[in-house]
Amino acid sequence: MRIARFAAGDEVRYGVVDADPDQAAANGQPDVSAPGGLTMAEISGHPFGPGTDVRLTGARYPVADVRLLAPVLPSKIVAIGRNYADHARETGSEPPAEPLFFLKPSTAVIGPGDAIVRPDRLSQRIDFEGELAIVFGRLCREVPAERAPEVIFGYTCANDVTARDLQISDGQWTRAKGFDTFCPLGPWIETDLDPADVLLTTTVNGEVKQRERTSKLIHDIATLVSYVTAVMTILPGDVLLTGTPAGIGPLIAGDTVSVSVEGIGTLTNRVVDSS
Ligand code: MG
Repeated sequence: MRIARFAAGDEVRYGVVDADPDQAAANGQPDVSAPGGLTMAEISGHPFGPGTDVRLTGARYPVADVRLLAPVLPSKIVAIGRNYADHARETGSEPPAEPLFFLKPSTAVIGPGDAIVRPDRLSQRIDFEGELAIVFGRLCREVPAERAPEVIFGYTCANDVTARDLQISDGQWTRAKGFDTFCPLGPWIETDLDPADVLLTTTVNGEVKQRERTSKLIHDIATLVSYVTAVMTILPGDVLLTGTPAGIGPLIAGDTVSVSVEGIGTLTNRVVDSS
C-alpha cells in the first residue's frame, strides 16, 4: 500500500495511492499504473501510531489533480553515515565497525517537487545523497533487531542533502546536514516493500550518478533500528535514513535531482540559490 500526504485545495490529508482502472480508462490509458491512471483514496486522520487503522473516507482524487507533500512530518530524522563500503572509501574513510548516526532537524523536510535551496552565501558545495528511508509506525525504544519489522510502518525515498564544505570545515555535521530544505522525502510511503535487496538510483538532470542495491548496506535495517532505539525513543512518523552509496556529487541552481527506489517510486526536486 502506498500512503501519501497531499493537498487538495486548502486541505492537507493522507491518502492511499492506487491504480484505478476507471480513471485510467477515462484518460484513455490501457495501463492502470501510468500516472494518469493513479488515484488518491482519501483516508481519515493519519495512519501513524497504535490503533490508527487506514480508513477510507470514500473521497477519491486523480493524483494529477492534487499536490503531493512530504509523506510524513517526523519529530526527528536519524541518519546513518558511511553505510555503504564504496561510499566510505570515496570519502577517504574506513567503514565504521558500528553504525554511525546523526540527526537532521524536522524543519529540513520538504516534499516531492519542492525546491532544494542552496545556501550559497554560506556554502560553495552542496551534494545530493540518495537514500532509502525507514518510516516508523509506533513509539518504541530498545527494539531488538528481530523485532524491527514490528515498528516499521514503511519506506520512502530520501535525499540527505549535505553542505560538503561545511561538513569538512566544521568537524561535525549539524550545520552541514541541517539547512532548511535539506531533507526531501517522498513521493509516498510504501508499506509492503521488502527492503533487503532493492535498487537505489540517483540522477541529476537525467544522468545516473548513484546506482546500488540495498543488499550492499554494511549494517542492515534491523541492526540500524536496534542501534538507534538503544539510544533514543522513536515516535510514530520518525524517519531513519539508511545511508548513501558511492557516487555523491554537487548540485547547483537549475539542477533537477531524482532519487528512485525500486518498489517505491521516484522523488524529484529542483535546486535554487538562496540569493
Ligand atoms: Mg547520508
